[in-house]
Amino acid sequence: MRLTRYFLPVLKETPADAQIVSHRLMLRAGMIKQASAGIYSWLPLGYRVLRNIERIVHEEQERAGHIPMLMPTLQSADLWRESGRYDDYGEEMLRIRDRHDRDMLYGPTNEELITDIFRSHVTSYKDLPLTLYHIQWKFRDEIRPRFGVMRGREFLMKDGYNFDVSKEAALHAYNRHLVSYLRTYERMGLQAIPMRADGGPIGGDYTHEFLVLAETGESEVFYDSAVTDLTFGDREIDYDDVAQCQGVLEEFTTRYARTDETHDEGVFHSQVPEERRRSARGIEVGQIFYFGTKYSEPMGAMVDDGQGGRVPVHMGSHGIGVSRLLGAIIEASHDDKGIIWPEGVTPFHVGIVNLRQGESATDAACEGLYAGLKARGFDPLYDDRDERAGAKFATMDLIGLPWRITVGPRGIEKGVVELTSRRTGESEEVSAEAAVERIAEIYDDR
Ligand code: ATP
Ligand code: MG
Repeated sequence: MRLTRYFLPVLKETPADAQIVSHRLMLRAGMIKQASAGIYSWLPLGYRVLRNIERIVHEEQERAGHIPMLMPTLQSADLWRESGRYDDYGEEMLRIRDRHDRDMLYGPTNEELITDIFRSHVTSYKDLPLTLYHIQWKFRDEIRPRFGVMRGREFLMKDGYNFDVSKEAALHAYNRHLVSYLRTYERMGLQAIPMRADGGPIGGDYTHEFLVLAETGESEVFYDSAVTDLTFGDREIDYDDVAQCQGVLEEFTTRYARTDETHDEGVFHSQVPEERRRSARGIEVGQIFYFGTKYSEPMGAMVDDGQGGRVPVHMGSHGIGVSRLLGAIIEASHDDKGIIWPEGVTPFHVGIVNLRQGESATDAACEGLYAGLKARGFDPLYDDRDERAGAKFATMDLIGLPWRITVGPRGIEKGVVELTSRRTGESEEVSAEAAVERIAEIYDDR
């Protein structure tokens, strides 16, 4: 993409009403524009990152054997009356009436809709296990939408639902989700720690929230600092291997890590030596849940169990806050100049800065780099504006591309360009061909 042909409405002023850094930077970098309270348009740069996050979520869900689909945003109230949640859900649910006076709602989540699909088509244990998921917009009429995309009213969520014949099988689905989530967040350059969370009215131990530690997080968390040393890395996983998935769950959840709702000061003190006890704030970027037959029973989602009986299926639901993740990644990765995108989600792989726009030698070198990178399958952003070097650098730093190639007349004389890391600020002088090679190596590693 050439910047002169792109739509990147960068703001010079710091928006006064944005309280946290990720919100400020997303506005300043021209990624989002507020449409109304808690509802945003995704401008081209923000949309690119959102799509990258979606792509990673899809890849990791499909790797785990989960099946993508798409359900609508608007749902009929009748299904929610069957589960009993139409009255329970309260003010957060946006209720709508259509021209025929039918009660509709903008889905805040999809347990009812998916259970209805399941019961219409599946009748036998032989069709299980089954996990279906989608990535779709949700609406929750939050009392205090704030922090930009972090707590929106309309937001994008991946929500997946497992259907299993027994509790034991459903707990394997739970473990599989935990493993796939660890991989997903790491590919986005994030450490998201699974923490024991509140089962709410359903109760039980089978729910974990994934938290990214950040001062601006809305959740209060307590943990053993040893959990921050755990990384999933690129280990091979067989998602059908029950013991292996269980092993990963134990490795990542045995040490103390809880949100304030489940925190127990006594257990914390007896389990964790003082020097490793931490309390901090975190951003909830996902949650997994086993809830048994809570929906299948009232809604009649039954299968024959192969022994002449019929049993309600065991279910769980598993969510990732896709749009919230943009905010969480920026909270975790920025400096005073702007965003620093991890390679996994960056909107463009590399920026090209021409220090002398209009001069034939630098223009030709930039065009060569641009074509060379495109030919290798990369998306460069070429700043071809007739602007001062300082302004070009400031834009690149603000929008946070992890790598920048700077082309100037002095370098061209020596046959070199400058390759700079946004994260470390370190630069190396290399030939244009070597710069393309380096970019290819960097992205191949990931
Ligand atoms: P919270 O406690 O933050 O209100 P939740 O526990 O109600 O969230 P879930 O139902 O677990 O949310 O939804 C799955 C994921 O969707 C959450 O982990 C979070 O990342 C994201 N999410 C939930 N509410 C919002 C929101 N208002 N804006 C953006 N993302 C959200
Ligand atoms: Mg949650």
